[in-house]
Amino acid sequence: MSETSETGDAAIAVDRQSPEAVFALLGDDIRLSIVSALGETPDEAVAFGDLRERVGVSDSGQFNYHLRKLRDTFVRKTDAGYELTYAGRQVLGAMHAGTYTANATVDPFPVEGACPLCGAEVLAAYADETATLTCSDCDGWENTFTFPPGSLDQFDREELPGAFDRWMGHVFDGVVAGFCYTCTGRMTGELVADDEPDRVAGVPAHVRYECGRCGSTARASGVMPALFHPAVQGFLYEHGFDTRTDPSWSLVDTARPDAELVGEDPLRLRVRFDQGGETVEATVDATASVTEVQRRPA
Ligand SMILES: [Zn+2]
Ligand SMILES: [Zn+2]
Repeated sequence: MSETSETGDAAIAVDRQSPEAVFALLGDDIRLSIVSALGETPDEAVAFGDLRERVGVSDSGQFNYHLRKLRDTFVRKTDAGYELTYAGRQVLGAMHAGTYTANATVDPFPVEGACPLCGAEVLAAYADETATLTCSDCDGWENTFTFPPGSLDQFDREELPGAFDRWMGHVFDGVVAGFCYTCTGRMTGELVADDEPDRVAGVPAHVRYECGRCGSTARASGVMPALFHPAVQGFLYEHGFDTRTDPSWSLVDTARPDAELVGEDPLRLRVRFDQGGETVEATVDATASVTEVQRRPA
């Protein structure tokens, strides 16, 4: 069962199949083995005979039957042989991401950096597929986000806080670019004024993103879009802060952004960093996009 949807643009053709029909295609050991076997050489198409050998099915007719079921949805035939489609690679990724580590936990352990509120030690932990960074002393600061369980065993324990942080940055990068981290649907952002400025950096607004397709949401400090702008990142880098490797929780504290609302309708947040006699200023607009960036001597 499939339907062709009108996207409003005649040049964009989307052929949609129901999720029930698509997932039913995967309900077979041989078919999942075909996806795995193609994943062994992700950059190379595999000839029919080689693929059948990899999967280990001697009956060519039976193998062909299952391979055809996957065609056009999870597997594509090219002149050189068979390869995974985008959806096929996503299935392969989901098989890796959820394997072995579905119930992974890491007990709280101390990490580099200090609580941005009280200066006490920061603890990292992992449970229920969620990474948590908390203050060991005060209860005023906590940072939580989803981290894929299948990635946990790819790092040593001391590497994990950095990995958590890079993952969060990676997810936020995608969100800022407008892609949902769950379903790759379109995400839109919004700047929201807060009654009380946040306790860490006194920022009077936060940004909120929502996927129009699956409803996933993300929330961050209002200074985050500015921190992801290349002009701001370059400015901070020149002044000794590396937004790729410095813990994000320490950055808001040590780089000390100054943020104030400069417009109510439409809402705008001006974010300023002063370092070494220089200033960079970025304006976050009502859609959580950075519209203006100015750099000048302080
Ligand atoms: Zn604290
Ligand atoms: Zn989504």
